[in-house]
Order: sequence, then structure tokens, then C-alpha cells
Amino acid sequence: MDEKYDQIHPLGFPLIDDKRKSFLDESIQELKNNLLRLGIKLTVIKDINNIHDLEILDDEILTYQKLHGTEELKLELTILTEFKEHISFDNFTLTDASDLPFQLEKTPEVFTSFRKKIEKYGSFQKPITLPEIPLESKPYHTRGGEKSAINRLKYYFYEKQFLSKYKETRNGMLGTDFSSRFSPWLANGNISARTIYYFIKDYEKQFGSNSSTYWLIFELLWRDFFQFQLRKHGSLFFKKSGINGKAITYRNNKNLFWTWANGGTGDDLVDANMTELKITGWMSNRGRQNVASYLIHDLNINWRWGAAWMESQLIDYDPASNWGNWMYIAGVGNDPRPFRKFNTQSQAERYDPLESYRKKWLK
Ligand SMILES: Cc1cc2nc3c(=O)[nH]c(=O)nc-3n(C[C@H](O)[C@H](O)[C@H](O)COP(=O)(O)OP(=O)(O)OC[C@H]3O[C@@H](n4cnc5c(N)ncnc54)[C@H](O)[C@@H]3O)c2cc1C
Repeated sequence: MDEKYDQIHPLGFPLIDDKRKSFLDESIQELKNNLLRLGIKLTVIKDINNIHDLEILDDEILTYQKLHGTEELKLELTILTEFKEHISFDNFTLTDASDLPFQLEKTPEVFTSFRKKIEKYGSFQKPITLPEIPLESKPYHTRGGEKSAINRLKYYFYEKQFLSKYKETRNGMLGTDFSSRFSPWLANGNISARTIYYFIKDYEKQFGSNSSTYWLIFELLWRDFFQFQLRKHGSLFFKKSGINGKAITYRNNKNLFWTWANGGTGDDLVDANMTELKITGWMSNRGRQNVASYLIHDLNINWRWGAAWMESQLIDYDPASNWGNWMYIAGVGNDPRPFRKFNTQSQAERYDPLESYRKKWLK
């Protein structure tokens, strides 16, 4: 388990909140059951210092999914010393690193040129295996594990065909059907971007392709973009001045931070979103952009505090997507525009004109 599992942030909140832990525990439990059916025993090591107790044999080969966060790489090094032989898979992204049409260290800094190069000269690898699409489909259900991910895919794609209008609905905030909600399963390794891509292509054959079916691939490329940016820039992703080294001074006002985190700022859009996050462990992309902008540009609080809070709370927490998006909004990342401030009043009017979203969470 992550070293951070039981640790506390200097601001006083758990580095990994219970909602995230439950999702991860459910994912591991399902994996454990699936492996048992194949006669494989899964051992969960709570503390990395206990790895010696496993008495790993000389002929045992470690096979694993490689991850590129700085903490993940450190953990990998510790574990590798125990094994003579190891094989890593690098299939967290839709685009395989080996298929990038540029060298990793030359990954474009701007999303549009990254995407265009991949779309023109790159290619996507097929998933190693494909899960069976079940008869049963289920709307969004916060439960870790591949089964729930596939149930959701069946519901969102084949049963409701929401994929065909995804581009028009994806900026919503209310309910669970305006976007795919694949993020928690993607982040926890329950489903891969390559599997989703395969099913988008299958869906297009059955129901036709349009700008919405393409747009889900477009968003998965945003995910790839941040993954490869993290690989390119490493620990700079987590530094206050970000990957572009811009020094910005913030107020270290803990009270203001907590007002934001607890949904008590007085700005209804921000408060509704922060309440949803605290209760469910999830927030829409529209919401995330607004609350991040508000913390940084309206309250002038250090963006890293906000990123750490989301790391603690989000059941879909992923180092590259979280810290990359936060840097982007703080103006120390990949945004070609220097200052990305959202006007939360006009955003509320545009994306929640009937106040339904705000009423649901503010009560
Ligand atoms: C401040 C901030 C923090 C964020 N933190 C995370 C995080 O920790 N983990 C995470 O997975 N996403 C993060 N995102 C990106 C995005 O908000 C979520 O991926 C998305 O809202 C998840 O909902 P969905 O699966 O329904 O997305 P959909 O709209 O259905 O998109 C499909 C998939 O594309 C990917 N995607 C979409 N938008 C983005 C994006 N902007 N950046 C990277 N990938 C994207 C996700 O994997 C998502 O599941 C963050 C965005 C912001 C602004």
C-alpha cells in the first residue's frame, strides 16, 4: 500500500481520505478474488519495510505496471531490489511510449500540438486482453473493481448511447450521466484507456461515429498529455513554481483554505462543488476548474494546498492529471495563456442556469 495510507498532511487532513481508501480496497478485493479463481494468491503489503518477510524466492519474477510519479518511482526502486528478475508493463496510457512520434524529452508543451502529432503520426496499441461486456448494465455506482467499470461502460455506451451526445453534455455538473465517469476506474487501474478506446471503436461501428464519440478519445489524450508531461518534467510537477519556474507569492492563510475546503466561502458554485467532493469523492471537470481558479486567483492561496486537498479527497486521484491540471490553472504549467481565472458568477449562470446543481448540494 501507498506509504501515505495512514499519514497526515501538515494542514491536518489525511493524505488519503477514507473515500479513496474504500475505492482502492474494493478494487484490490475484486482483483484478489479474480486471481484466486486462477489459482494465484495476492498478498497485500501494508508497509514496504515488511517486504523482506515475504521471503521471495530466487526464481520468482516480478511483473508489474510501471507508474511514473516521483513517489511511485521511489517505491519501485525499493521493491526491485528484492527481485532478481522483473518485467514491467507500461500501458497506463492510451498511446504507448514506444509509439510516440517524438522523443519523450521532446514531448510538446502545448496540448494541441501534442494531440495533433499523435493523431497524425502516432498509433494506439491494442489492449492485452478485453473484458467481457456483461448482460447487466448499471448506471454510475461508486465501487472499485473492473466489474463496476464494465457495467458502467455497458450502460453509458451500449444501453443509453450517451456516448453519441457526450460532447454536448460533458460540461455538466448535475447527476451522473453528463460525462463517462470512467476516471475512478482509470486511475485505480480497474480499466485501461486502451480498453475504453477499443469499445469506442466498436460502438462507432454499431451506432456510428460523430464528434462526441471522437471527443471521448480527445479527452483520453488530455490524460495522456499529462502522463507524458509528468514523465518529461518529473519532480518539477510538484514544486510551487511548477514546470515553468514562475515564482508567485501566495497568502498562507489556513483559515481561508479551510473555508474553501469545507465549502463555506459564500460563493455558491464553489461551495456546492466542494460539498459534493467532500461527500462523494468526485467532482465534475467544470467544477474542478472553477474551485481551483477560485482558491488560487480569488483567495490567493498556494495552489499546492488545493492540489493536496484533491489528492486526499478524489477517488479518481492520479498524480499526473491532478498536479498537471492544478499547475495549468495556477499559470505555472502547460497553459499557453499566462493567467486562467474563471468568473464563478458567470460560470454558474452558464452551466447551472436553473440553480439545480447548487440547490442539490447547498440545501
Ligand atoms: C484541478 C483539477 C484536478 C483534476 N484532478 C484529476 C485527477 O486527480 N484525476 C483525474 O483522473 N482527473 C483529474 N482532473 C481531470 C478531469 O476533471 C477528470 O478526469 C474528469 O472530470 C473525470 O470525469 P469523467 O471520467 O466523467 O470525465 P470524461 O469527461 O468522461 O472524460 C473521460 C476521461 O478523460 C480523461 N480526462 C478528461 N478530462 C481530463 C483532463 N482535464 N485532464 C486529464 N484527463 C482528463 C479522464 O481520464 C476521464 O475519465 C482534474 C481536473 C482539474 C481541473
